[in-house]
Amino acid sequence: MYSATCSQCKKVIRAKTRANLLNALRKHLWKYHEAWMRRRIKAGRAKAGGNPAVLRMLRDFATGDFIPKYKEYKRAQYEVLKPVLDIISKHMPPPVQVAWKVVDKSADIVFKK
Ligand SMILES: [Zn+2]
Repeated sequence: MYSATCSQCKKVIRAKTRANLLNALRKHLWKYHEAWMRRRIKAGRAKAGGNPAVLRMLRDFATGDFIPKYKEYKRAQYEVLKPVLDIISKHMPPPVQVAWKVVDKSADIVFKK
């Protein structure tokens, strides 16, 4: 049994698998804390500051195209987005979380200075 506590209302959510838990948590957040979720996403966009490359990176992250396209990105863009993606990735589907972890762990190698 896996469990997690909602950061917003402290409700404890339980599930039989880790994937189910993340799914349940994401559903809970959207159902009960939609405004907060939207603010989170908006904050990510605002931080990208209309920089097209950063916006593209954010979109590729959300759709799971991050790994095939990572060579298009520069280190500075990654560093702008990292704190945002660290937060958002927890609420993304497992394949996106895995992709982000891979990119994040190998950032020193994959991103050009
Ligand atoms: Zn909650």
